[in-house]
Amino acid sequence: MKPDVWPASGSRLAGLLAKLDIRRPEDILLHLPLRYEDETRLTPIREVPPGSTAQIEAEIISCEVTLPRRQLRACLRDKTGAEIIARWIHFYPSLKKQLEPGRWVRLFGEVRGGFFGVEMVHPRLHFVEQGEPLPQTLTPVYPTTAGLGQITLCRLVDFALGTVPLDEFLPAAIQQKLALPGFAEAIRTLHRPPPNTPAQLLEERSHPAWMRMKFEELLVQQLSLRRAYNARREHNAVCLPPRQTLTRALHEHLPFALTAAQRRVIHEIAADMAAQHPMQRLLQGDVGSGKTIVAATAMLQAAENGWQAALMAPTEILAEQHYRKLAAWLNPLGISIAWLSGGRKKREREAALEQLQSGECLIAVGTHALTENPVGLPRLALAVVDEQHRFGVRQRLALREKGISGIRPHMLMMSATPIPRTLAMTHYADLDVSTLDELPPGRTPVHTRLASTARRGEIMDRLKTACLKGQQAYWVCPLIEESEALQLKTALETWETLKTALPELRIGLIHGRLKAAEKTATMEAFAAGELDVLVATTVIEVGVDVPRASLMVIEHAERFGLAQLHQLRGRVGRGTAQSSCILLYEPPLSGNARARLKVIFEHTDGFAIAREDLRIRGPGEFIGARQSGLPLLRYANLEQDAELIESARDTAAQLLASEPQAADGLLTRWLLGREGLLQA
Ligand code: ADP
Ligand code: MG
Repeated sequence: MKPDVWPASGSRLAGLLAKLDIRRPEDILLHLPLRYEDETRLTPIREVPPGSTAQIEAEIISCEVTLPRRQLRACLRDKTGAEIIARWIHFYPSLKKQLEPGRWVRLFGEVRGGFFGVEMVHPRLHFVEQGEPLPQTLTPVYPTTAGLGQITLCRLVDFALGTVPLDEFLPAAIQQKLALPGFAEAIRTLHRPPPNTPAQLLEERSHPAWMRMKFEELLVQQLSLRRAYNARREHNAVCLPPRQTLTRALHEHLPFALTAAQRRVIHEIAADMAAQHPMQRLLQGDVGSGKTIVAATAMLQAAENGWQAALMAPTEILAEQHYRKLAAWLNPLGISIAWLSGGRKKREREAALEQLQSGECLIAVGTHALTENPVGLPRLALAVVDEQHRFGVRQRLALREKGISGIRPHMLMMSATPIPRTLAMTHYADLDVSTLDELPPGRTPVHTRLASTARRGEIMDRLKTACLKGQQAYWVCPLIEESEALQLKTALETWETLKTALPELRIGLIHGRLKAAEKTATMEAFAAGELDVLVATTVIEVGVDVPRASLMVIEHAERFGLAQLHQLRGRVGRGTAQSSCILLYEPPLSGNARARLKVIFEHTDGFAIAREDLRIRGPGEFIGARQSGLPLLRYANLEQDAELIESARDTAAQLLASEPQAADGLLTRWLLGREGLLQA
């Protein structure tokens, strides 16, 4: 029975479909099976290996409800005389009536060796006449949601297959070159695999029909990102050519020479800022690769053209550190800096606001306080966002809106979490990317060790010895995601414990709840060497730069994500002393936690770590952090389909240049109403 209408909007069925993002018949065609079940074959009961899934055909011998734990048990016998038990723990009374002795059924499910012989629990059930012909095609199993059955989905797919035109948008030449089947053929194969379709290729998603759909999905993603990229170039920005009046002086006064990588990215950024359309660039560079000086140079390039630049950082500690660093670099050049963050005194704040509003001050540094209402940056031409993944789309947009209307600031987003290549080519294809792939010279790699919490005492002894020799250390408190209050409590307890156990050492505490002035005082004391140990929550995760600290202990390291551990560890190894990082973990470790700790133990390179992170967790979290509203890839896999990604990128360029209607057709088919906030 085929429905001849699509469910009316507002109906229960339409609501269920919407949960799967299916709104139009076109959408359900792109809702591809999760897997397939082979109901084209029957297996004699005796030949089913225990633990495997099979379809059997058998006659019902008896059926009863058993107690004490209410179950429905049916005994069945196939035509070879072998018997099997089928059990239902949840069932409607009507099922018992249907399972009438003498009827023949087909059961599909996992066959197990049970107490009473072989059995199937909650098999799929299908009443038949004995010897009824088997289906000719594999049965698709669709991803679904509670209350929406496979049969309904199948019928709706049939409806869509019968009504939606399966237009071919890929030029024949491209299709041929990539040896991909046509769209119509691919869609039909995946929803209704013809007899003899190799089941394994379908399961593995390596069948040409799957390749076609994955390719189309990647192509659409490329098209939509390229469109967003091109659309942004239609906006106006201020041309800020590198005049080198201030930037050169800055570089001449630095106590170090820029690395080749720094010079290269400074050049890339300078060229972008000279253009009339807004820069949209991501600067990625491992922890400690020296992104701040690159940002400072770009900001000076704005200033030497008489325009404003703002640098936004995710925490007060970091904003303050940037302020101090920029002040040290820029004040000698006669450039003043306005520093805005939640914790500053009202008077200081108002003075800073006034200087920015009047345009007297060209450089602003702060937390998200920069985006708030009273802040006016009438000549804003460059916005730099540090640790950009820490900000939401809204905050980045709010900063962008600070300039005068009609002009968009150039945007430079910085991140210490490198994006693996395949991910950069897909989800970040709308950005230009600069990479600092070189660390400044003289860094010594951090020595990483794993130790179970049982060895805490030993670790404290080590800490003591190191500090008495003049080293400084961070002690990072466990992350407690569920409760900030609990996290704070743990931090206080850790601090107390360490103070009691190590009375010889000067131990400070820093966490997110301290007042800004207290945080500043503690950080300053630590930086000045007046504290030996800094007990800290993850507030120190980003950006904190105290070159003398050379030891870090991370408690419950198994609770942290890979990027976080890498960031934390990057707080040491900034000076010339040999640094170590001790990861304390609480056994037993879950498989996933073990995998993470192994990665952080074996790798020091942020790119390698990010690649492993992508492999372990999939792209969801990377992209989640970007919050772009861009749909995730449903079918293509960044690891397995790397080659398709390259072809999709080339094809997208080709279509946009010469077949814009085909590009439109593809975007409408896949993304209608789904294209998200790509501008941020
Ligand atoms: P990140 O990329 O993690 O933000 P920073 O900008 O904080 O790194 O730089 C880390 C440290 O390295 C800072 O103390 C900075 O002054 C220093 N630094 C930056 N560039 C160089 C360089 N070319 N040579 C030596 N030290 C540098
Ligand atoms: Mg930084």
